[in-house]
Amino acid sequence: MIAFLRRLFRNRLAGLGAVTFAAIVLFVVVTPLLPLPDPNATATADRFMRPFSEGHPLGTDHLGRDLLARLAAGTRLSLAVGVAAALIAATIGSAIGIVAGYFGGRIDNVIMRGVDMLMAFPYILLALAIVAALGPGLMNALIAVAAVNVPFFARNIRGITVGLAGREFVDAARLSGMGHTRIILSELLPNVLPVIVIAMSTTVGWMILETAGLSFLGLGSQPPQADLGSMLGEARSALITHPHTSVVPGLMIFFIVMSINLLGDGVRDALDPRLRSGALSRPRAMTEVKREDPVPAPTDDLLALQDLHTQFHVGDRVLRAVDGVSLTVAPGECLGIIGESGSGKSVTALSVMGLVASPPGLITGGAVRFRGEDLVGAPYERLRQARGDRVAYIFQDPLSTLHPLYRVGDQLAEAIRAHHKVAAKEARARAVALLRDVRIPNAESRLDDYPHEMSGGMRQRVGIAMALANEPDVIIADEPTTALDVTVQAQILSLLDDLRRDRGLAIVFITHDFGVVAQLCDRVAVMYAGRIVEEGPTGAVLNAPAHPYTRRLIACVPELGQGRRELAAIPGLPPTLDDLPAGCAFAPRCEKARPACSAAPIPLEGSGRRAVRCLYPETRPEEAA
Ligand code: ADP
Ligand code: MG
Repeated sequence: MIAFLRRLFRNRLAGLGAVTFAAIVLFVVVTPLLPLPDPNATATADRFMRPFSEGHPLGTDHLGRDLLARLAAGTRLSLAVGVAAALIAATIGSAIGIVAGYFGGRIDNVIMRGVDMLMAFPYILLALAIVAALGPGLMNALIAVAAVNVPFFARNIRGITVGLAGREFVDAARLSGMGHTRIILSELLPNVLPVIVIAMSTTVGWMILETAGLSFLGLGSQPPQADLGSMLGEARSALITHPHTSVVPGLMIFFIVMSINLLGDGVRDALDPRLRSGALSRPRAMTEVKREDPVPAPTDDLLALQDLHTQFHVGDRVLRAVDGVSLTVAPGECLGIIGESGSGKSVTALSVMGLVASPPGLITGGAVRFRGEDLVGAPYERLRQARGDRVAYIFQDPLSTLHPLYRVGDQLAEAIRAHHKVAAKEARARAVALLRDVRIPNAESRLDDYPHEMSGGMRQRVGIAMALANEPDVIIADEPTTALDVTVQAQILSLLDDLRRDRGLAIVFITHDFGVVAQLCDRVAVMYAGRIVEEGPTGAVLNAPAHPYTRRLIACVPELGQGRRELAAIPGLPPTLDDLPAGCAFAPRCEKARPACSAAPIPLEGSGRRAVRCLYPETRPEEAA
């Protein structure tokens, strides 16, 4: 709640709206306690007194009634009617929408055609017709305004429910034997509630205006009862001679509607989960960079990460997801990055091309050098040129990275044509060749498939083909085989292996599986809590792990044909990234830890290519090398 208010007030206009609206509510709540005159007491001798006259701070109207008292009473009534209408419309409309969206089929059809019929009438005419049928009066105006707004909620909520009702968690609830009512109340309602709140906050102002409109026409509140609309209506004839009688209720309507709209916009932004995590702006096309320390000097590696720091600034918390990572990879080489989930592997990979979402992402130090050129400070256009052309990515979930509505051939051609001017026909020929390269049978006919017509393994191959489309120098593969079964995984790995041998491709292969590392990688870097804790040639690290964490990770891998063996899970959990210990981050989970481990930062030390960040390593890297 506090966090919500803080987000809300970060948006100045929304804050202004909130303060204004709170002041108006305070005004209508407090005024009955003040010694104001009766709002309906007429005094013909005091007609049309100007504002600031004795006893009447806002003056009087054409019947000599005190305007301040009438304003207080009228505002109270208008607010109450407007908010009540909004609540009624939201409740009925959302209920209709959820039921229609959840059940679908004929129920949906019947309900929504009814709603469509309501929507086919001009808004205000429908309200007028309802009031005409029910007779004038504030209560009937309320009913009319609520009824007119029901379709708006029903349409909105139905659309969202249809999307949600097909999702896995609803299926899971069904499979667990929940009834329709339970599913609607416990699975769907919590998910659409934010949308209902947002829709309401943006329509309350509108409904207050509509109620005022009906009263203005004499169909709402009946004399002598005051609401803002009827006050305006009564003041109309004296608009020129005594403008203050119109200006007073007019300004009040203006302030109410403006404040509610500003507040509604703010509420919408503050409830949007994508905006929740940072400042009130959408993520940019490249990661923000704010480096204070000097940038490390260039090297002649193909790709070098030099002391890279990537952080997430969420509210006042600073999550150090990548905390001083240095890595290099040479042409034709495969570097493995391994670590538990959440250790910062993906963020490291995304930082290379400035793909970490900003906000909240921020690169605070170090450099990423591609052929000596620093990509961290590079302008967006330079990054755009290199992305997918010189440095390509393969992601974990091929279904979410392929566009569901385009044929895979078109997507491959697009990947090529984003970087090179080639004719459509030529791009298509290239696409066929690429699909053959990744060993998709019947490449020519498969080109016209949609992603959903392919199996998981084929989609992942298409993902790899896309990464290969422009013959990149480096491929960064982020757990590309996690979603695949073992036979397909083996095929994909041997495919990548061939590619690097044939084309001299450099591969950065991210995984949490030592088995995969052993098959594919020349060197491996072990990550824990945003830091490299051990690095070395794959064989050396696997045979003689130096860091206790590496040893425990390897011990977690089951071995076939080794009989039954105790699988040693690592006790404890990785640390939270906004509160990293000064020393070794693994110390709390390490049985060899001694006080010195937690006292001070521990450097990554080693000789040659083998290095470890540990005071009491299992083997000395010098001996193992
Ligand atoms: P993995 O090693 O499993 O790939 P990641 O690199 O994805 O881990 O994540 C590293 C850490 O950064 C995690 O603790 C994660 O919670 C955090 N993180 C990732 N993306 C964001 C984000 N957009 N906002 C805040 N924290 C994030
Ligand atoms: Mg990841």
